[in-house]
Amino acid sequence: MKEVVERIKAAHKIIILTHISPDPDALCSSFALCSALCSFGKEAAVILCEEVAKSLQYIGGEYQIYSSCKQYEADLVICVDCGDLRRLDCAESIAAKYKNDLINIDHHKDNTYFGSINYVKADAAAAGEIIFCLIQVLKPDFTKEEARWLYTAISADTGGFRYSNTTPGTMRIAASLMEYGFDFRAVNKELFETVDYNLLKLKARVMEQVMVSSDGRIASVSLTDQMMQEYCVKEEDAYAMVDIARSIRGVEIAFSLKEKGNHIKVSLRSEKYADVGKIANQFGGGGHMRAAGITLSDITMDDARKLILAACEKELEGQG
Ligand code: AMP
Ligand code: MN
Ligand code: MN
Repeated sequence: MKEVVERIKAAHKIIILTHISPDPDALCSSFALCSALCSFGKEAAVILCEEVAKSLQYIGGEYQIYSSCKQYEADLVICVDCGDLRRLDCAESIAAKYKNDLINIDHHKDNTYFGSINYVKADAAAAGEIIFCLIQVLKPDFTKEEARWLYTAISADTGGFRYSNTTPGTMRIAASLMEYGFDFRAVNKELFETVDYNLLKLKARVMEQVMVSSDGRIASVSLTDQMMQEYCVKEEDAYAMVDIARSIRGVEIAFSLKEKGNHIKVSLRSEKYADVGKIANQFGGGGHMRAAGITLSDITMDDARKLILAACEKELEGQG
């Protein structure tokens, strides 16, 4: 932390980067940090590789879209919520250029320590918790918007303070953020209780097709390109599909497969004892023990399901 603060104080121009397909923790941690750095007299900018998904536009925040034609100049680059350089996607070249001035702030246990300074806390529920601590050192208080962003980051990654990554410390941070008086109900309504009508219909279809293993411990759902087209839903807006599989009583591992062009995005969740981060690592993915992801390429949905199912069965062997 001391080193991070010293580097920030010495820098003038700071670029903030986060992972591909940014989720609320990635976006909100970046925006809160950017806002705090600006009010601390720095010239800071968040650079993303693509527009924010429609379903996350309520978050707000300013950002630039990466362009390969542009020359990016900075004294310091800070990556947030990203465990691996490759997950920066198009912005990886910026991180590579500034590899000696690269701060890696993250909470993934399989973080590759790619920064010149690595502030990685695997016990933090969200990157937003670490950014909260950092901003506290930089300035006396938060703006209402910074507080809302950080609360959103933490509420998202803890599933509304329900997942096992929630600690008493998480609740204390959330409580002190709530003192700033933003509309926390609106945040949670957006995060957990709002879907577009089309997505609701698509979810109903996915629900009908959920598959459960013979012992009832593994459940999966699949979302093909064709289904998304039929319901006019974009992959980046079709989140939380894996929760459909997870909610079934007795399920230890749930996974979803989502087709996106040549790729299949796999989301894995576990409940009590299975380590899905370990499963994801086997296929070049990553994440945490209870939530992880993989991107598979050049494979059919059917083969992908079989592949992941076999890995899940192996992980459960002799357990539970
Ligand atoms: P998701 O299922 O997309 O919500 O992601 C769950 C967790 O796994 C998050 O912590 C992600 O950062 C991580 N994750 C998702 N996809 C990948 C991937 N392709 N490679 C590495 N980590 C991933
Ligand atoms: Mn994230
Ligand atoms: Mn996160």
